Amino acid sequence: MSEAYDYDLFVIGAGSGGVRAARIAAGHGAKVAVAEEYRVGGTCVIRGCVPKKLLVYGAHFAEDLADARRFGWEVPDCRFDWPTLRDNVLSEVDRLEGIYGEILDRNNVEVFDQRAKITGPNDIELADGTKLRAGTILIATGARPVIPEIEGAEHAITSNEVFHLETLPKRVAIAGGGYIANEFAGIFHEFKCDVTLINRSDKILRHYDEAVRDRLLQISLMKGIKFLFNAPFERIEKQEEGSLLLHMKGQDPMEADVLIFAVGRAPNTQGLGLQEVGVELGKNGAVLVDEDNQSSVPSIYAIGDVTDRVQLTPVAIREGQAFADTVFGGKPTRVDYDSIPSAVFSHPPIAGVGMTEGEARTKLGSVKTYVSDFRPMKNVLAGRNERALYKLVVDDATEEVVGIHMIGPDAPEILQAAAIAVKARLKKPQFDEVLALHPTMAEELVLMK
Ligand code: FAD
Repeated sequence: MSEAYDYDLFVIGAGSGGVRAARIAAGHGAKVAVAEEYRVGGTCVIRGCVPKKLLVYGAHFAEDLADARRFGWEVPDCRFDWPTLRDNVLSEVDRLEGIYGEILDRNNVEVFDQRAKITGPNDIELADGTKLRAGTILIATGARPVIPEIEGAEHAITSNEVFHLETLPKRVAIAGGGYIANEFAGIFHEFKCDVTLINRSDKILRHYDEAVRDRLLQISLMKGIKFLFNAPFERIEKQEEGSLLLHMKGQDPMEADVLIFAVGRAPNTQGLGLQEVGVELGKNGAVLVDEDNQSSVPSIYAIGDVTDRVQLTPVAIREGQAFADTVFGGKPTRVDYDSIPSAVFSHPPIAGVGMTEGEARTKLGSVKTYVSDFRPMKNVLAGRNERALYKLVVDDATEEVVGIHMIGPDAPEILQAAAIAVKARLKKPQFDEVLALHPTMAEELVLMK
């Protein structure tokens, strides 16, 4: 390290990508520091994937307890206590935050618990005024929930606040149609709240296969979740007794106790000093980077949600690893963005990898699909009228399975293994060669004709 610098690498943001990059770069021998303005662990650990998934588990007991009666269990009327689940989830988050801090500590990464901004190609200034210099700066500041500019928006909350709700609201309105909106719709519905999902377009989960998202919509409606489509917000009014009156274009005003905005996540670049030092930003404020995560200023790199490529934790982690290996480990590595599996932890969950049927038809022309539309054995005995749907999308010319899309119990768990086959470009006849593992839901993947 040149004596002109305090660190070889200064990472801004200790989230999924930042922590991985910091610890791997330190492992390669670099002197590393990280600044974190909120809590070590970042969105995924503190207020994203992890607490969300724990709420999904908690919510699913509503159905498990009801189904258990059909399996012979005498289940007394059970009462759900939100503060118990909330506090248990929050203490698990505290525990994980501690582990992430220890990981950085063990790898000799210095942590500054404060906001940082960039003041030059190699210069950082902390919130307390401390000025530091680093050979390389990594922006790993993630993204934040978008709050639309409408009158009364300050009365709404976002996924940031949802994990801390004092009490369980009776009526929950959720603005948005993406995965976060649908996941929270499922969670609050299972907790017996009255849930309405309000979307400005007529589609939910745009990036998922049409048949699969239609199935989720049908099942959600059947369960009692309400949907308002083509309903852009006009204003939000706080009423005297504390509830909200929501005004949407073309709709009657609607009352809710809580409104959650889940309408997208914007890269966290505000006030970072990027434009001043010449870092080029995209139209939504994302840091523009090349395949090696390098920005338009050679000493400044960016990874994860702040680059707005694919906003998922495993992607941020891969990018952090690739950055550290390339810049500090002498092992040039690029992230392969092809066939990234993803899931929606709704009730039931959705999972998908590769091209949807629509994408494959546009890209490949001739495509064959294989569909299994079935009622899982457990649902049959439970008297639960929810059908699962699995779809294989196959390139007609090569017989390659180019996409797998599923909705049904445990779909994300099953899809993670099936994604290996898509990534390995296996062909439909190879799926057919595999013997079924009976009786499972996953066996449908090798039985589709
Ligand atoms: P982050 O993890 O967001 O970390 C960025 C960090 O930078 C934050 O801790 C922030 O406080 C800090 N920071 C920002 N600016 C500064 C500054 N100027 N100075 C110092 N620190 C700063 N992904 C999945 O793969 N699966 C899921 O199931 C999933 N569920 C999600 C559910 C919700 C409700 C949300 C909101 C997100 C979910 N995600 C999920 C997305 C996932 O959390 C992100 O993709 C991931 O955390 C991105 O990692 P990152 O390192 O880019 O940023």
